[in-house]
Amino acid sequence: MTLTTWAGNLTYAAARVHEPRTVEQVQEVVAAARHVRALGTRHCFNDLADTPHDLVRLDGLDPDLRLDTAARTVTVTGGTRYGALARALHAQGWALGNLASLPHISVAGAVATATHGSGDRSRNLAAAVAALDVVGADGSLRRLARGDADFPGAVVALGALGVVVRVTLDVEETYDVAQEVHTDLPWDAVLDDLDAVTGSADSVSLFTDWVGPTVRQVWRKTRLAPGATYEPRPDLFGARPATGPLHPLPGIDPVSCTPQLGVPGPWHERLPHFRLEFTPSNGDELQSEYLVPRAHAVGAIEALRALGPVVAPLLQVAEVRTVAADDLWLSSAQGGDRVGLHFTWLPRQAEVQAVLPRIEEALAPFGARPHWGKLFDRVVPGGGDPRDAYPHLDDFRALVARTDPDGTFRNPFVERHVLGA
Ligand SMILES: Cc1cc2nc3c(=O)[nH]c(=O)nc-3n(C[C@H](O)[C@H](O)[C@H](O)COP(=O)(O)OP(=O)(O)OC[C@H]3O[C@@H](n4cnc5c(N)ncnc54)[C@H](O)[C@@H]3O)c2cc1C
Repeated sequence: MTLTTWAGNLTYAAARVHEPRTVEQVQEVVAAARHVRALGTRHCFNDLADTPHDLVRLDGLDPDLRLDTAARTVTVTGGTRYGALARALHAQGWALGNLASLPHISVAGAVATATHGSGDRSRNLAAAVAALDVVGADGSLRRLARGDADFPGAVVALGALGVVVRVTLDVEETYDVAQEVHTDLPWDAVLDDLDAVTGSADSVSLFTDWVGPTVRQVWRKTRLAPGATYEPRPDLFGARPATGPLHPLPGIDPVSCTPQLGVPGPWHERLPHFRLEFTPSNGDELQSEYLVPRAHAVGAIEALRALGPVVAPLLQVAEVRTVAADDLWLSSAQGGDRVGLHFTWLPRQAEVQAVLPRIEEALAPFGARPHWGKLFDRVVPGGGDPRDAYPHLDDFRALVARTDPDGTFRNPFVERHVLGA
C-alpha cells in the first residue's frame, strides 16, 4: 500500500502497515516487530513518523470514549481525531480547554509533537494530557500519569517511547466562543505593544506575508461566560472589523472556515480555524514553524520582516500565535511562554528547503525551537547543541535508553535530531 503524508510531500518508506482493531492486536504487532512507528492522521510534513520497517495505524480502533466527570477527564484511543472527540464531549456538556487550527488530527499524533493553538494563557494540547497508556517494545502496556517521574518526558515523545493506545485529557464544562476577524492591523501597533494585541482575546492569530506595513488579518477568539454576549470591536489598534467571513489564505472560499463576525457558538466550532467537514488550510501546501521565547518575539518578527522579500514568493501565508509555558521535556513551550512564527508555503519543497537555513540564520539569536512536525533544517536554528535548546534532552535520551534499549521505536528522524545515531 502506498501511503503519503496528508500534504503528499513524502511517501512513507514502511515495508508493512498494520491496522489493528483492538489494543491487544496493537500489543501483538509491536511485540513481533523489530522496528515499529505509530502513525496518526499523517499531518506532519517531515519524516518524523516514518520508518523503513513497520508502521501501525490506530484508525481502526473504536474511540472507546470514557468520560469521568468526577475526575474531570476523558479517555479515548490514541487515533481518535480531535473533531470527533470534541463533538462527543460537547454533546455531553463538556469541553477541552484548547484546540489546534484544525480538528482533523489524531490526539496521540498531535500530543506527540506539541501541537498548539493560540492564546497567551493557552498551553500546547499536550499540556492537557493527564495520563497515557503506552505499548512498549515488548508489547506490554504501561500507564503513565501526571505526577509520575517519567511523565514529563513521555507526553511529547515523538513516538520514540512506544505506541500510545489511550490518552486521558483534562476536560471542563462546555462553553461558547465568539470569533471576530479584523483586517489591516498596522505592524507598528503590533511591535509597539505585542502584549496588548495578543492579550486582546483568549486566542489571537496574526496572518501576514511579512511584507507591507500591516498585518493582513487578525483572528480573535473570545471565550464567553454562560449567558454573556459578545461586544464586537469597531477598532482594534487601527484595524477594522471584516465585513464578511474570510479565509486566512488569499482567494480561498471561507466556507471551510469556522464562523466569524462575533457570532457566539460552541467552543469546538470556533477554536479551530477550519471545519472538520472540509479540507483545512489549502491542502496543496507545506508548513514550517519556529517558536521563540516571548521576550524575543519582537526581535524575531523584525528579523522575519527584513527577510520578507526573500520568503514572500514561496509563501501562501504566515501566522503569528502565542503559547503558554509548560514543563514537558520536548515541548516547544517547555520552560517559558513562546510566540509561534508559522509559514504556510507553496508546495515547492526544494525551494522551501533552500530558504529554511536563511530563516533559521535570522532566528538564531532568538532561541527558536522548530515545530517537530513541520519542515525545518536544524533542530537548533543556526546550529548548536540541541541540549541548549532543550534542557531536559539528556533526561529524555536516558528515558528512551531505559525503556527502549533495543531501539524498537527509533527511526532516522529521531536519531538525526534527538537521540544521536
Ligand atoms: C493543515 C494543517 C494544519 C496544522 N495546524 C497546526 C496547528 O494549528 N498547530 C500545530 O501545532 N500544528 C499544526 N499542524 C501540524 C500537526 O498538528 C502536527 O504535525 C501533528 O503532529 C499531526 O498529528 P497526526 O496525528 O497527523 O500525526 P502524524 O503525522 O501521523 O504523526 C506525528 C508523530 O506522532 C507520532 N504518533 C502518532 N500516533 C501515535 C501514537 N498512537 N502513539 C505514539 N506516537 C504517535 C508519530 O510516530 C509521529 O512521530 C498542522 C498540520 C496541517 C497539515
